[in-house]
Amino acid sequence: MNPTLRVHHLCESSRSNGPGDRAVLWLQGCTFACPGCYNPQTHSLQGGRPVEIVSLLDWFLGLTKTGLTISGGEPMLQAEPLNMFLSLIRVNLPDASILLFSGFTRAEICADPQKESVARCCDVLITGRYQAEQRLAHSLLGSANKEIHCLTSRHTPEEIAQTPVSEILIDSEGNITLTGIDPLKW
Ligand code: SF4
Repeated sequence: MNPTLRVHHLCESSRSNGPGDRAVLWLQGCTFACPGCYNPQTHSLQGGRPVEIVSLLDWFLGLTKTGLTISGGEPMLQAEPLNMFLSLIRVNLPDASILLFSGFTRAEICADPQKESVARCCDVLITGRYQAEQRLAHSLLGSANKEIHCLTSRHTPEEIAQTPVSEILIDSEGNITLTGIDPLKW
C-alpha cells in the first residue's frame, strides 16, 4: 500500500504562511486542544482525507513553487509519512523552502527520532502550543511562548517577521479561505 498523509486542506499560493509565495499543506489531526485554537476543525483524527504522498509530491512539483508550508492540525502526529514526503521534496527540489508549524516544543521534537527526521527536512520550525493568554499574532507566532527555529541559512527571523499577518484566498471555484497568523474574522 502506498503511504498516505491525512490532509485537511491544500492551498496553491499564500503569502501569509511564510516568506514569499508558498504552497500550504494543512494536515488533519491534533490532540493538544489548545484553548482558543483557530482551527478546531483540524483536530479530529478521522477528519480530512487520506492522500498518497506521491500525489502530494506531484501536486507540489506541478505548482513550480519554491516554498512549502506544513501546518495543521499537528503535522508531527504523521511524522513517518511526512518524513517520506519531505524527503522526496528534498530529492526532487533541493532548493525548496520548507517551513513547518508544530505544537510540540523543540525539545519534544528532538527527543523523538521520527519527529526529528521531519525537522531535518525543514528550513524553519515554528514550535510550541498556542497559549491564548500570551496571544501575539505576529511574525508567524500565534502566542509569545512559541519559538522560531531557523535550521538552515535559507531564512532569517527578520525575514519571517515581515510575513503578512492575514490574507483572504479565493480559489478558482470561488472557495474562500481566511488564513495567516491573525486571520480576519468573517
Ligand atoms: S497545536 Fe495548533 S492545531 Fe493543535 S490545538 Fe494547539 S493551536 Fe490548535
